[in-house]
Amino acid sequence: MDELLPISYINQYAYCPRRFWYMYVEAEMIENVHVLRGVVNHEHVNEPGYATTATGVVAHRRVHVYSHALGITGICDLVEEDAQGVLAPVEYKQGQLGKWSNDQAQLCAQALCLEEMTGRVIPSGAIFYFGSRRREPVLFTAELRGATESIIAAMRRVVALGVIPAHTEQRARCRGCSLYDVCLPTETDLLIAEGGVTVTHHRKQ
Ligand code: SF4
Repeated sequence: MDELLPISYINQYAYCPRRFWYMYVEAEMIENVHVLRGVVNHEHVNEPGYATTATGVVAHRRVHVYSHALGITGICDLVEEDAQGVLAPVEYKQGQLGKWSNDQAQLCAQALCLEEMTGRVIPSGAIFYFGSRRREPVLFTAELRGATESIIAAMRRVVALGVIPAHTEQRARCRGCSLYDVCLPTETDLLIAEGGVTVTHHRKQ
């Protein structure tokens, strides 16, 4: 497997494959309030009030992880290690639980990397939501592991195919998307409806 895909894009792909294309393949990154809030929150994760690790647990911060089997790489915000040596990745996210469940796939991908790197089984992790200031446990079930691997495989197929994916059918997601003005989903729909225009991008060489 030649190209290691960034774990951070799993969430983007799950949100909208076209958004993943713009960000990963075309390296488009436009800041809007949602993006900026995430950046600012991440800059504060080591400050008082953001500590989430229990007493007696060792905190490893900003851990570089990778899986050659899955072809992914990334950085864990935090990996906790308890007295028995059990590891648990912890991710910091905007918003609150329920708003966006695909955060779990990104965390699971981190766990899959850690398992490959250490040979240890990682049963669970946690997501700390800035919006609610709550730490939500995530169990790495067989179902979540399978779903995570499916997303990674789909990302790889899109990159290999080299053609921009269609707009998401869940158009409500477009409203908060920082790439709306690049993607122009409504305008593209109108053009297609009017004249059968086909908009196809191929990967830049
Ligand atoms: S504007 Fe909509 S279709 Fe376009 S990348 Fe964003 S979420 Fe996807």
